[in-house]
Amino acid sequence: MARIGFIGLGNMGTPMAGNLVKKGHEVHGCDLVKANLDAAAARGVKAAASAAEAAKGADVVVTMLPAGKDTIAVYDKAGVLQAAAKGTVFIDSSTIDVASARRAHELAKGAGMLSLDAPVSGGVGGAEAASLTFMVGGAKEAFDKAKPVLEAMGKKVVHCGDAGAGQAAKICNNMILGISMIGVCEAFVLAEKLGLSHQALFDVASTSSGQCWSITSYCPVPGPVPTSPANNSYKAGFASALMLKDLKLAQEAAAAAGATTPMGAAAAQLYGLHNAWGEGGTDFSGIIHLIRGKGAK
Ligand code: NAD
Repeated sequence: MARIGFIGLGNMGTPMAGNLVKKGHEVHGCDLVKANLDAAAARGVKAAASAAEAAKGADVVVTMLPAGKDTIAVYDKAGVLQAAAKGTVFIDSSTIDVASARRAHELAKGAGMLSLDAPVSGGVGGAEAASLTFMVGGAKEAFDKAKPVLEAMGKKVVHCGDAGAGQAAKICNNMILGISMIGVCEAFVLAEKLGLSHQALFDVASTSSGQCWSITSYCPVPGPVPTSPANNSYKAGFASALMLKDLKLAQEAAAAAGATTPMGAAAAQLYGLHNAWGEGGTDFSGIIHLIRGKGAK
């Protein structure tokens, strides 16, 4: 069993750290917010006074933070790379921009550490159920060492390539999701205008060439998929604010790489409007209200 430092015990980090404890690992956690640290301690995480203290003596250090600037601040300013022994594996599971992810790898390598970018999909439910998917970038040696730790928090772990490849996979996947959800919403709203029932469109499209996850698992109208957030007043699920964050990261990456992503750009704009309408905290499938031209409330 490993000794693990866990930095960032928010909505995702607390259940992820709790699952590491459940699997028998010794987890030393840290968060800026005392209430979050207390919630993690209730799941058996040992409270560390600082990020550096959490990293001291660790075999693996996991960060689960809001944005690229936070990961860089922890790697560069919090003393974690000085506190850990050389060869420690640093895993950043936050969703961040590709450039910051590559910078984090450089900082870790400069300090003699192994490192991975390993963002997740599956949300808070997946974090609780230890069923997350990890998309991992970094050297094979780091991946092989980290894999058992990632498997304690998820059910699928994919090595996507070198430094930054995990973040690249995450934003490409979520750009598909944002675009496909808007397309599915447009189809259901058109069906309403044409007098076609939601169930009839679902029965056809879920088994035809329009089939996609946004229809079959996350249908944006109540009824056809009982577990979709549409049946629960669009309670997130995957919040629109997080979808907008990921679409913006995809647009930043596209601009930096010279890629043309007009549908991704349109999706980012539409989610920007949806969030400005006050829907940042509700599920991203609720964008169907914006497509209908009516508010959710
Ligand atoms: P969150 O805001 O709930 O948690 C982040 C935590 O990091 C907070 O508790 C904050 O206090 C802590 N923190 C910030 N700076 C710190 C520092 N310097 N030292 C110690 N702690 C610090 O966010 P979350 O929902 O847990 O998401 C975390 C990451 O996972 C984000 O990058 C997000 O985009 C990604 N993600 C979230 C979801 C989701 O459904 N919530 C799904 C997939 C990916």
